[in-house]
Order: sequence, then C-alpha cells, then structure tokens
Amino acid sequence: MNWKFTTLILAALSAAVPAFAQHKASEPVLDVSAMDKTADPCVDFYAYSCGSWRKKNPIPPDQSSWSTYGKLEDENRAQLRTILEEAANANSQRDAVAQKIGDFYASCMDESAIEKLGAKPLLPALEAIAALQSKRDLANYIATAQFPPSLEAGGALFAFRSTQDFKDSTQVIAEVDQGGLGLPDRDYYSKDDPKSQELRKSYVAHIAKMFELLGDKSTDAAAEAATVMRIETALASGQMTRVERRDPPQLYHKMSLEELQKLAPSFFWDTYFKKTGAGPLSSLNVVAPGYFHVMNEELEKESLADWKTYLRWHATHAAASDLSSAFVRENFNFYGKLLRGRQELPPRWKRCTNDVDNDLGEALGQAYVAKYFSPEAKQAALKIVKEVEAAMESEIHALPWMGSATKEQALTKLHAIANKVGYPDAWRDYSSLQVIRGDEIGNSERAAWFEFHRWLAKIGKPVDRKEWDMTPPTVNADYDPQRNDINFPAGILQPPLFSALSDAAPNYGDTGATMGHELTHGFDDEGSQFDANGNLRNWWTEADRKEFDKRAQCVVDQYSGYTVIDDIKINGKLTNGEDLADLGGTLLAYLAWKEDTKNQKLEPLDGMTPEQRFFVAYGQSWCSNERDEDKRLRATVDPHSPEKYRANGVVSNMKEFQDAFHCKPGQPMVRENACRVW
Ligand SMILES: [Zn+2]
Repeated sequence: MNWKFTTLILAALSAAVPAFAQHKASEPVLDVSAMDKTADPCVDFYAYSCGSWRKKNPIPPDQSSWSTYGKLEDENRAQLRTILEEAANANSQRDAVAQKIGDFYASCMDESAIEKLGAKPLLPALEAIAALQSKRDLANYIATAQFPPSLEAGGALFAFRSTQDFKDSTQVIAEVDQGGLGLPDRDYYSKDDPKSQELRKSYVAHIAKMFELLGDKSTDAAAEAATVMRIETALASGQMTRVERRDPPQLYHKMSLEELQKLAPSFFWDTYFKKTGAGPLSSLNVVAPGYFHVMNEELEKESLADWKTYLRWHATHAAASDLSSAFVRENFNFYGKLLRGRQELPPRWKRCTNDVDNDLGEALGQAYVAKYFSPEAKQAALKIVKEVEAAMESEIHALPWMGSATKEQALTKLHAIANKVGYPDAWRDYSSLQVIRGDEIGNSERAAWFEFHRWLAKIGKPVDRKEWDMTPPTVNADYDPQRNDINFPAGILQPPLFSALSDAAPNYGDTGATMGHELTHGFDDEGSQFDANGNLRNWWTEADRKEFDKRAQCVVDQYSGYTVIDDIKINGKLTNGEDLADLGGTLLAYLAWKEDTKNQKLEPLDGMTPEQRFFVAYGQSWCSNERDEDKRLRATVDPHSPEKYRANGVVSNMKEFQDAFHCKPGQPMVRENACRVW
C-alpha cells in the first residue's frame, strides 16, 4: 500500500541449488557500451550516459516503457518463474510455503479451465447486485462483495483501510478515502483537450463492451456505460487533486462515526463497518471530507437502478483479469494498449508471476531471497546506507541556511530513521489463507480478503514497525514518513544497479544515490512535516521553514520548465518531493563516496576519472525508452519526473558534476541559478 509513501519509481513487478545465483553478476553497474561518447556530457548528460543503451534497447511489445529498472524487473520475474514452476510440481516434496505459491501459480496458469468458465465466476456477484432492494442495501453489498472493499482508490465508491494516526504514530486507526473511479485520476474526467476527450469516448466504449461480454444487448450496454460515466464524472468532481494530496495536514480529519454519518447520511456506515469485520469504530480519519459530501449527493440523486449498473461495472472490472480470454483481452485493449501504449498482452506466466507476488509476496519472497540475495550483498548495502546517513549528518551540521534549533531536530529525526534492507526479519504468516489448486478466481478472492482483513486487524493496535509494504523481489525503494524508515528490497539490490563485486564509484553513483534519495524524502516538502517519531508536527522555526520553502520553490520552477511531450510540461509541484530527493540524494551519495574512499588512490578506468564514473553510473540508472501514451499518463499521475530530467535536472545543479566534466558557464548542464537544498 504505497498511497502516501514516497518511492523511487512508479510502482506500480531450475534446480534448487544451495549457492546464490550469480548469473547476473557479470553485468557491470557502469556499462561503457551503453554510453554515447559522441555526445557532449556538458550539453546533454543523459544522451552521453544512455545514448547507446536507448538505441540498443527498443521497448518490448508487452511493455509501456523500458528502462534499467524495467529490465531488472523482467529478470527478477524470470527468476521467480523458475521458483514457481518448481513449486507447482505437485509430485515433488513441498513444504507449506511451496504448496501455497505453487498451487496458486498452477491455478492461474490453467488457462483452459479458466476459459471454460467464461463469465460464470461473476454470477454470484451479479445476482447479489440484482437482488438489492433499496439504496440502503448498498453498504451491505459493498462490504461483502466478491472482492473486498478497496484498500486503494480503484474499487466501488471509496477506499477503506487502516493507517497510522498522523498525530499519534504509535496507534493504528481506520481511514476512508476518495475512490470509485475506473480511470487513473480525477483529471481524466475533466480535462478538455482533444486527447482527453477522445480517451473518455474510448473508456465509455470499453465499459459498454464489458457489459456486452456479460450478455447485455449492445443498445442497453451503451446506455449503461453512459450511466457509469455520468456517476464517475460526478464522483471525480469531488476529489482532491494529486498536488493537494501532497500536503499532509489536508489529509487529516479525524472524526467520530456520528460525524461521518452526518457528513454522508445516505450511506449506512454502521452496517458497512460491521459487515467488513472492522467492528464498531469510535473514530476514524476521513481523508477527503469534500469527496464524501459529493458522494452523498450522488447517492441521493441517482436511482437504485443506476447504482446497480455502476456496481455491475465495478464488479466486472475488479474480476476482469481472472476471467476468460475475452474479458482479459478487452481489459488489456483499454488499460494496456490505449492508456499505456503496450502492443501485446504480456505472456500468461508473467501475469501469473505478478499475481503471486501481489497476493503471496512474502511467501514467494522467502524462496527468492534464499536463492538470489546473499548475506554479503545485504552487508554491503547496509554499509552504503550508513555512509550516506553519515554524509547527511555532516551536511546538516554545515547547512548555512538552517538555525541550530531546527538542526537539532533534523539530526534527531535522521538518527531515528530505521534502515530496512533486503527482506523482513519475520515473514508474514499465510497459514489461514486457503489456496485450492484449480480454483483460480477463488484463490484471488480469498487472497484479496486475506489482505483486506490483515489491514483491518491492525486497527486499535500498536504499530508494527518491522512490517514491510513492498515484497522482497520488488525493484523499487521507499521512505515511510510515519514509520520513519527507508526500505530497500532485495530485488533492487541486484546487478546492474548494485553489485557487491563492483568498485565503489558506480555503486555509490547508482544505489548510493537511491539510498540518498529515500533518506532525503524524510526531509522533502512532505516528509519534512513529520518528526522523528513519525508524527505530523512542525519542528521547524518559522524563519528556517521560509528558507527551506524558497529552496524547494527553486526546484519547482526548474522542473516546471521541462517538456514531457507535445505541449505537456512537468507539473513541478506534483514532482517536487521526488525532484528534491533526487537532488539531495545524489549529493549525499557523492559526499559519502568521497568519505568512504578518502584513504584510497582512485585510478581512472575506461578513459574516465573516478568522479566521472560516479556520475555516469548515476545517469545510467535512468536509461529508458517510453511510449508516448505512457508519457502522457505519467505526466498526470506520476510524482516522478521523466528519466531524462531525473539525470539532467540533478547534474545541472551540481558543481561537483561540472568540475568532473570541465563544463563551462553557459552550457546546458550548468544552470545559472543552481538549486540546492540539502
Ligand atoms: Zn522517491
């Protein structure tokens, strides 16, 4: 659940040998053959670092983009496949974990059994919707539907989950949030440029096709799709924007159940919470009260028949990828092809591997780390984290713009950060989750309910600070402001991003910068509002906060000037936290590397100085190709800037880079008004 965590990238996935698999270890962290040495690093550093990589790595047909991270994800997925195919062999000796992941995978791979069922697995849900007698029954239905209420924004009406209390981070409370849309963001319903209008038409056509697959007549299906669009457009109008959601105080409205009932009286909250198993709640956080006000208006305005249409769509949408190929293909045509530009549906093994990673991530993860993550790699990664943290400590002491009172608080926060590397100390217990071989949709449903109840079970209990939100094979990293911890799964600590066999410069330039990035999130526009204990509390003097805001605004202005595609510019306010983390993180990694190697004589290699190699490794961590559709989608939903600017935007602010490549004032990679915060 990464809804408010700050990650590195958009999240978004043989024989049992006891030795650790080393087949990727030969891939260097810095790949000279990926560079374009005809490009001038002071004019376009991204082209210099990644020019040949971009030519040699066209986007595979089943991908919307292709990058250093995407490639590694694909390689990790192939390793997971090996583990799963072995575990799926019911005739072998399997422990409880292997049985669960193996049977889950085998059921998902059994395409002919799934095909035979067609839309049948949806029938109980469709019948339950048809049987609703009044709008009063909506709460009961949503709380007990085939798939559980949504933890994130995507399901019917709203999201429900647990969260750490913003004002008391030791406690877990319940939380409701805006949701109920089928498109990726509220803005998709209101933007009126021709591309957005066209996309909305395609979305309505997609909904209609899904209704037709359920057996509706095409004229009925078209009318039903229009109804869904009308309801979702109204719901979208009440939602907060992504930029508004970057301000934590705007997301905290703790209220009693009575107050929520007053805010949205047409929904039977009491019934809903009881039926979900959350029990009687005394209070909860309502993330976006404005949304629930609008939702209530819609509940009153729209007829029961139209709400049933809306629920039929969401029930079908939620189950689409578990149904027969007609549903899978139509779902892909809209969400994969039109929205993201993918040309082909990923092969079934990739989709099934992703499903096991999503639903049984810490069971599959156990097998993954045993095979692909050595204790040496963990120690090597931890060492870099500590060096980067030491660099931040020195930087805070030396900051010219921050007063001593704020510095003391910043250091307290820094010292309190927990470093989580590789995988959790204790693995999640899946023993209560029943996996039945041959029951694909049943397994998906039970796994989704298991996860939903796992979140609800935390309400009213103290926080488990040891918990992980990403699975071990994930190629990503994150900072959680409420737990005040940084997380680096085993999946990202792999070649070519990191190698225990590499010399220090590329490891610091690549993975060191990632670690600096996550660390800096604790002190970005959002993270800086939480204290050492993870409470939303201002620990800044007014004057220091002003100085910080001024420097953060410099970065907003810089990135807002970059073009994503056509006339779409980066939304510098949306990407500010990530841009600050990239800038601060790279500087910290550089300083940490210098400190770590201060007693060594570093020699040039491959015609580059050690400093140049540090920066090229950083640049190469962002090598990528993206489809136009993906660029447009990311410009709206992704808080990370496009890769090119994650490289060039950072180095053009850094004197250390300009010295390394002897860049001159006036060249593009030398910004006149360089930004610097940390
Ligand atoms: Zn980040």
